[in-house]
Amino acid sequence: TVDPAVAEDDVELAVEGALRPSSLAEFVGQHKVRGQLQLLLDAARIQQRPPDHILLSGPPGLGKTTLAMIVAHESERPLRMSSGPAIQHAGDLAALLSSLVPGEVLFIDEIHRMARSAEEMLYLAMEDFRIDIMVGKGAGATSIPLDLAPFTLVGATTRSGLLPNPLRDRFGFTAHLEYYEPEELERVVARSAAVLGVEVPPAAREEISRRSRGTPRIANRLLRRVRDYVIVHGDPSTSSGTGGGSGTGGGSGTGGRTLRAGTATEADVAAALELYDVDAIGLDRLDRAVLDAVVRRFRGGPVGLSTLAVTVGEEAETIESVVEPYLVRIGFLGRTPRGRVATPEAYAHLRVPAHGATVR
Ligand code: ADP
Repeated sequence: TVDPAVAEDDVELAVEGALRPSSLAEFVGQHKVRGQLQLLLDAARIQQRPPDHILLSGPPGLGKTTLAMIVAHESERPLRMSSGPAIQHAGDLAALLSSLVPGEVLFIDEIHRMARSAEEMLYLAMEDFRIDIMVGKGAGATSIPLDLAPFTLVGATTRSGLLPNPLRDRFGFTAHLEYYEPEELERVVARSAAVLGVEVPPAAREEISRRSRGTPRIANRLLRRVRDYVIVHGDPSTSSGTGGGSGTGGGSGTGGRTLRAGTATEADVAAALELYDVDAIGLDRLDRAVLDAVVRRFRGGPVGLSTLAVTVGEEAETIESVVEPYLVRIGFLGRTPRGRVATPEAYAHLRVPAHGATVR
């Protein structure tokens, strides 16, 4: 999913892969969605058919890709990964669909960015496992029907509102992922800390969770930066260079090759995250730029999305699907028909005195 606030390199992406839970039981939080998915998968298994098509929506980093992998893993089917931006023509989709093996799980990330012509092809494919391939142009054009192997489509989108209704209606199950509660993020951090071989006591875990914008991907990323900080600045007596260990648990590691990084204190967490511009409640630089623009530049709003995007030099889509949902969720921004408005909480966070009647 698009997450332009961070460009992660290959190593980081590999680590992200290692931190992914591979079963529903290991997947933290999203209790309701997990139960619904479990039922869907169990029923399909009993009837020995591919599970129904699944649409997952929600902001980046909440586990959509992870759930798609879990669907494939738990139903013991191969997984093919693609994305909306990679499907620019109906032909791209035809090539993809016709190469699926029977029962394969097809994951299309950012499905709302697929070409229109491909969307229409997908309707028929999802419903009847069949597509019509157009050959020729103009009066001589004909369509050749092509049968497909049955498959399960898992679509992910940060903007389910942008999907045309006929496409949305063809998913047998639609789930919206919500931001995670702090105690759920603490569980994500605890699990990942064990994989990364860093000891994170409860107070430090709370601190990381509080600053993770309700998002597991961010919690994992902050944890990695905290681990780096501990490796460089931490108390050497708590780390184990070559397996000596200090007797407090020890990292389970990936394949036993991860060295214990040591123990993260709350102070380590605070210092590491300050270095990376994450503030006390987890807002990053772009979050603060947006808030700052609404509060100072536009005196609390209302300000339209496109104006706001130009002011902070970022794509409107990023503001709308990444930045805004969280600021709205924590009550810092409100949406009105005339634009975005800042709340008193936003003023307080930026330490700007609220001026009178413009905000409620
Ligand atoms: P999305 O596809 O929604 O952008 P991902 O599925 O790629 O998000 O998740 C991002 C990272 O967060 C992954 O490394 C994954 O391990 C972790 N993650 C997401 N959701 C959970 C969860 N519920 N439990 C544990 N880890 C999670």
